[in-house]
Amino acid sequence: MAEFTMELNDEQKEVRDWLHGFAADVIRPAAAEWDEREETPWPVIQEAAKVGIYSLDFYAQQYFDPTGLGIPMAMEELFWGDAGIALSIVGTGLAAVGVLANGTEEQIGTWIPQMYGDAGDVKVAAFCSSEPDAGSDVASMRTRAVYDEAKDEWVLNGTKTWATNGGIANVHVVVAVVDAELGSKGHASFIVPPGTPGLSQGQKFKKHGIRASHTAEVILDNVRVPGSCLLGGKEKLDERLARARERAKQGGERVKNAAMATFEASRPAVGAMAVGTARAAYEVALDYAKTREQFSRPIIDNQGVAFQLADMRTSIDAARLLVWRASWMAVNGKPFTAAEGSMSKLFASETAKKVTAQAIQILGGNGYTREYPVERMHRDAAIYTIFEGTSEIQRLVIARTLAGVPLR
Ligand SMILES: Cc1cc2nc3c(=O)[nH]c(=O)nc-3n(C[C@H](O)[C@H](O)[C@H](O)COP(=O)(O)OP(=O)(O)OC[C@H]3O[C@@H](n4cnc5c(N)ncnc54)[C@H](O)[C@@H]3O)c2cc1C
Repeated sequence: MAEFTMELNDEQKEVRDWLHGFAADVIRPAAAEWDEREETPWPVIQEAAKVGIYSLDFYAQQYFDPTGLGIPMAMEELFWGDAGIALSIVGTGLAAVGVLANGTEEQIGTWIPQMYGDAGDVKVAAFCSSEPDAGSDVASMRTRAVYDEAKDEWVLNGTKTWATNGGIANVHVVVAVVDAELGSKGHASFIVPPGTPGLSQGQKFKKHGIRASHTAEVILDNVRVPGSCLLGGKEKLDERLARARERAKQGGERVKNAAMATFEASRPAVGAMAVGTARAAYEVALDYAKTREQFSRPIIDNQGVAFQLADMRTSIDAARLLVWRASWMAVNGKPFTAAEGSMSKLFASETAKKVTAQAIQILGGNGYTREYPVERMHRDAAIYTIFEGTSEIQRLVIARTLAGVPLR
């Protein structure tokens, strides 16, 4: 097990500087344009693919970094550049991790390369779990997957919503109900290969922030996928369902508890995205406060402004520490006995919302316009308290973990 450290090693520093360079030179200058266009920034993704940032290799390297700092460091730098563009770059990684975590070696080898495409022909992937009536309450999912034994095919029907890259993805990973009695333990994940009939994009959402990232409904109308598209395979699913049925007999709450615990591990990555946005807004505000003069002195000479900056920086550093701790725990298999994953996401996302609002205040009228980036950063920051579990759900998970009562 790697010791917890607050220092990046030399190799990590090199990667961080490389990512920072890409974020500063390629992502940041393109941010305002793609925010206004509200379209997927394909040229930027292509650029990221060319230099190796948009690739499974890079993502996997950070994901398996034993210090746990690889993913948070990468997320912070990319989202420092711009949240909407960065989500377009890392969105595929989130779907790929679903396959890495649950797929067989053959499935990983077949589908992950198709999720990314190559530098000359980049593709994206989507992870589709949320539904119109199943957001925070994942267990109320309705999309069904029914096995057609005669053809060895699964038939998927339902409507997914809020899918990042939904409908424009080459490969969709779809979570569906295979046993409605078992709540979230009766769910399974399926690959929907490129061009499969029956899968279509529904509404594309016009959003408040992260507008360069495509978010849409995905309609599944009698979508037939081969048996080999069930992640992990049928035998493993049957075993898992049998175990879950047995556990459900002993006490249904434990079934739900385990599912919530799984989400915990991915939450620090979202916390790191929020730290990136918060740091970006803080830096703009600090710079502005040092150079903007009113009453014949820089505005930072006023304690009312300087103290805000002190609070902003303190919260950002505290958020990063919580994120790094939780990432280190997750990678090293340390149990989240106080819901440390949720804690990191809760604190970092609330910090991003607050710090970006403070940044607008420090920039005054300029902060309120699209001439300066903090207005966009504030709109972007609002997503962090919503996706991958809202702040209320994080508090629920933390509170119930502390109280030692089952998660419902
Ligand atoms: C831009 C964007 C991208 C997304 N990308 C994806 C994606 O790629 N794939 C995917 O599957 N999903 C994705 N999501 C969905 C996201 O995870 C959900 O929006 C989120 O889980 C919240 O669900 P909901 O929107 O249905 O809100 P609801 O669950 O309806 O919640 C509404 C409000 O009620 C509160 N609430 C609900 N239950 C409780 C409770 N028990 N106690 C206290 N308060 C409660 C919530 O905190 C919230 O404030 C995305 C969402 C957005 C906006």
